[in-house]
Amino acid sequence: MARYPRVECPVCEEHYAGVPTRRTGMVSVHDHKRTPRALVLCEGSMSQVPVRDAIGWQDELPEPGTGEAPDVLTLF
Ligand SMILES: [Zn+2]
Repeated sequence: MARYPRVECPVCEEHYAGVPTRRTGMVSVHDHKRTPRALVLCEGSMSQVPVRDAIGWQDELPEPGTGEAPDVLTLF
């Protein structure tokens, strides 16, 4: 079984497993509750945080279709 690095939740500052994401150097904070019997997850669940010992961090890619269209290639 894979062991994920422990990362700090940006909201409650507790440490949870960092689940790999599609972004290099970034992990997603594993789902957690702030108290054991809470009915809702901590707002920091699923937030993406940088891995402490990564050598680089990838910016989030824009959703397809939302970026500016490339210039049309003009041939003379
Ligand atoms: Zn939290």
